[in-house]
Amino acid sequence: MEQSIPELFGSYVFTDKIMREKLPKDMYKALRKTIDNNTHLELDVANAVAVAMKEWAVEMGATHYTHWFQPMTGYTAEKHDSFICPSDKGEVIMDFSGKELVKGEPDASSFPSGGIRATFEARGYTAWDPTSPAFIKDGTLYIPTAFCSYSGEALDKKTPLLRSMDAISREAVKVLQLLGKTEVTNVFTTVGPEQEYFLIDLEDYKKRKDLIFTGRTLLGAPAPKGQEMDDHYFGNLRTRVAAYMHELDQELWKLGIPVKTKHNEVAPCQHELAPIFDTTNIAVDHNQLTMEIMKRVAKRHNFACLLHEKPFAGINGSGKHNNWSLTTNTGENLLNPGKTPQENTVFLVFLAAVIQAVDDYADLLRLSVASAGNDHRLGANEAPPAIISMFLGDELTGVIEAIENDEYFGKAEHVRMETGAKVLPHFMKDSTDRNRTSPFAFTGNKFEFRSLGSSVSIAGPNIMLNTAVAESLSLFYDELKDVSEAGMDEAVHKLVKDTIIKHKRVIFNGNGYTDEWVEEAQKRGLYNLKSTPDAMPALIADKNRKMFIKHGVYTETELESRYEIRIENYTKTIHIEALTLKDMIQKQFAPALMRYIDDLTQSALSKQQLGIKGAAGVQKELIEKLTGYYEKTISETVKLAEDVDKAESMKADLDQAKFYHDVVIADMNEVRKYADEAEPLIPEGYLPYPTYEEILFYV
Ligand code: ADP
Ligand code: MG
Repeated sequence: MEQSIPELFGSYVFTDKIMREKLPKDMYKALRKTIDNNTHLELDVANAVAVAMKEWAVEMGATHYTHWFQPMTGYTAEKHDSFICPSDKGEVIMDFSGKELVKGEPDASSFPSGGIRATFEARGYTAWDPTSPAFIKDGTLYIPTAFCSYSGEALDKKTPLLRSMDAISREAVKVLQLLGKTEVTNVFTTVGPEQEYFLIDLEDYKKRKDLIFTGRTLLGAPAPKGQEMDDHYFGNLRTRVAAYMHELDQELWKLGIPVKTKHNEVAPCQHELAPIFDTTNIAVDHNQLTMEIMKRVAKRHNFACLLHEKPFAGINGSGKHNNWSLTTNTGENLLNPGKTPQENTVFLVFLAAVIQAVDDYADLLRLSVASAGNDHRLGANEAPPAIISMFLGDELTGVIEAIENDEYFGKAEHVRMETGAKVLPHFMKDSTDRNRTSPFAFTGNKFEFRSLGSSVSIAGPNIMLNTAVAESLSLFYDELKDVSEAGMDEAVHKLVKDTIIKHKRVIFNGNGYTDEWVEEAQKRGLYNLKSTPDAMPALIADKNRKMFIKHGVYTETELESRYEIRIENYTKTIHIEALTLKDMIQKQFAPALMRYIDDLTQSALSKQQLGIKGAAGVQKELIEKLTGYYEKTISETVKLAEDVDKAESMKADLDQAKFYHDVVIADMNEVRKYADEAEPLIPEGYLPYPTYEEILFYV
């Protein structure tokens, strides 16, 4: 009999309930304190937890444990050790100590470190993150960990994320204290990522080198039908896909990942999945796991799950919506407009902080979603533009304008707004107000950062967002900290008003896909960083460096290393794409085309011999046309190869990345143009790989 969902949910997770059952009371309490208040963990507690974890894991059939970490590749990494330990009687026992739980030393020197370990120490250490629960997968106990160098420099994405969560909590609590919320001691950021993906037939996938090596098709003429009928969006799930989604739900639920919604997306073969939101750290771990398990379950159903941002030209690619908010330890969502004026003050202060953060650090937010894959989407009228702006909706914009102009704001009930902060208006959250074209939209009680690519680790964007908002709050605190209690209302009101006036340029409720907006944004002085190389300098720009260092999120060295790694990742990606395209043209496309040309020629010649005129004439024309394409495709491929050589002879820096972007990608587009024009003229059966039509419409 199948397990009930509540029984199944989290059944492979070392949950709070299990910890409470298995740990001595005082140890449980001490651990809880560490998790809830970020306090230091004592070794005796770690020892007790290790014993309990091992007991549970062995009962569940686990034989190994692993420190699971998130190196700067954006993927997750693991090295498995078994629990076995020799006993003095020549037998083995299953053993696991607090020390092994708390710290690991994977010989992980091949992960990118951007020079950190060269200058410091070669070894990397993993350290247990008790705020993210351990779980069992494939007979192994997975322990979420941070990964750092001997000197404590972060070599991963989790450490800066945790630091950014600390920073925003610290700054938010300070401001909340001033606003009278003295009971708040901790503020958590919460995230719910909506994940898009493609499912295609595994057999098709295996026949396409471009999908295998680069995750996207580098060639391929459009099918006769695309997404223009909108018949896939929210359409009913095909049986095979439904079976996949069912098993995926089960697998994710077992790991305590609260996936809730699933539906078909706009493009054929495209789908979406979303969990219920969680604290950011856990949401990040869960999203990493989700992506891995999506791919794995797909194989069992003879699918390949594509997480690339643009697997197919001409139809929508995939993104990830990062729904983000702030919650206090007392359970209050700080971005909930709320019903009482008292709460609205808090809401407006935090709203203002986010507005200021997005305006001041738009370049960083843009950078955080920049990748070779996502460059195909941003600004291509299928995803938000590369310009970062904010959507507030009519109602909130009304409130903001009223504050700015010292006017009364009234909606249906004509609530009067005085100048004092205590009597700010009451407005209902309005979730019907939607704008798909905005990169950063207020959606009722949270912000939705919509520019993320589907394959990215959501750690990066959240690090930037958390730190930028922490910085706004820190400046707000400085402004308010010396104000007397009697003067606080007025000071807060002035702060909100001044912030709105200063940063309203980043607010835009219109259609972000239009050329008018691009012009308007330029007039407003907003960034329009079109590609990854354009966005890269933001990471080490002076103002951004200062902010990261001030809040202890990245050190100077850590920033430099990430800058290096990001650039390298970009150039390597394009390099692999270029070589794959060259390979496919030379070994697959061109020979197939030539075979068809030869067959046509044979056929035309034999007709000529028989004195049959009409058809041979048409064939001759076609032969000439195809030969033209053949020559063009080959000559463009030769140019591509030459430019790749040029690129490779350059020093590995931003200029090299720019060369890849400006020259190599342009070459690839030229090759593709001729190949894609020729493709529809080639009969089925000649090309050794499936076409768009075959891939997209037969699942
Ligand atoms: P859509 O944007 O497609 O309408 P939903 O309304 O289903 O999507 O919600 C999107 C995501 O936002 C879900 O993962 C949901 O859990 C998440 N979400 C809801 N409230 C919050 C919050 N306070 N903080 C972070 N994420 C949230
Ligand atoms: Mg959404």
